[in-house]
Amino acid sequence: MINFLDLKKINQQYQKELVEACTRVIESGWYLLGKELTSFEQAFATYCGTKHAIGVANGLDALILTLRAWKELGKLKDGDEIIVPANTYIASILAITENNLTPILVEPNLSTYNLDIENVKLAITNKTKAVLAVHLYGQLAPMQKICDIAKQHNLLVLEDSAQAHGAHINGHKAGNWGDASAFSFYPGKNLGALGDAGAVTTNDDELANTIKALRNYGSNEKYKNIYQGTNSRLDEIQAAILAVKLQYLDQEIQYRQSIAKKYIEGITNPHITLPTVTNLTAHVWHLFVIRCKERDTLKDYLHKNNIETLIHYPIPPHKQICYKQWNNISLPITEQIHQEVLSLPISPVLTDQEVHRIIEKVNEFKA
Ligand SMILES: *Cc1c(COP(=O)(O)O)cnc(C)c1O
Repeated sequence: MINFLDLKKINQQYQKELVEACTRVIESGWYLLGKELTSFEQAFATYCGTKHAIGVANGLDALILTLRAWKELGKLKDGDEIIVPANTYIASILAITENNLTPILVEPNLSTYNLDIENVKLAITNKTKAVLAVHLYGQLAPMQKICDIAKQHNLLVLEDSAQAHGAHINGHKAGNWGDASAFSFYPGKNLGALGDAGAVTTNDDELANTIKALRNYGSNEKYKNIYQGTNSRLDEIQAAILAVKLQYLDQEIQYRQSIAKKYIEGITNPHITLPTVTNLTAHVWHLFVIRCKERDTLKDYLHKNNIETLIHYPIPPHKQICYKQWNNISLPITEQIHQEVLSLPISPVLTDQEVHRIIEKVNEFKA
């Protein structure tokens, strides 16, 4: 079986260094908010080109705490409208509703799966206060245009970069376009911890300080609580692990890009719609997502041929039980995407031989 993602194989490449990092943390006797976190935060901020990176417990918290910080700073208030792509992972939407803000679900662009700039413009009202741009599957959303519109309308821009560490246009990286950006280091992400972890990047000192307080009970000084904060810290051990893996991120991205190139050149089956790439470095291929009208038949067929695929995502947020108030709204592009998408294996440890077998089997598929 060609696995969709072999995390064991990915992490075993760095096992010696990971064990050294863990040993260092064990022997330090200091497990939270210490040197390892500060050092990873600095390295990750440098990598993204931002002034700050603030480690938090996971990617969802990175989103939640950024919006929460903007509320504490008086930049957002209950009921404000946040524009967000309707086809995103549920976390982007949960972060908005968790903060009593109102998500305005907009249809994405069918060829990039990212925000469609015309739909963003149409969605702006006098209640709109922010755009949450998701770099879905690893490709940057049209950030220049989004930032231009945001500036015209005085909107905050939050990037959801959970799938796009390292994506860039002329060196301008994911995480350094908006007012702030949320990252996830969930094990399966392109930069993955050995457990949960996340971070916010920003160039705004006040926002950075507020998030630092919020992640630690609302306190920047022990036993003095400015906010009714939460506990969302990134452990020293995960920070040490991430610092090791960050060194190999660019190399892994290049490898993902080389697989994507082989898929794009090799897959010629007319039943398959390949991903559209707007700029070669703007896509870091967290996922390689194709579309097919007979998606479920294709998935079964590949499974019978020992190729594991996944669907990102089978049910759009507005069709989820938890958002039953939206179950009847019609978002045909989003719904089409969820019916047709299929993610092929792509990872830093997928072999050339496996890539060729996948291409061959996809090309042999008859709908
Ligand atoms: C993974 C992911 C998140 C959430 O990250 P966690 O670390 O799992 O909380 C948020 N947004 C997107 C687009 C993601 O893919």
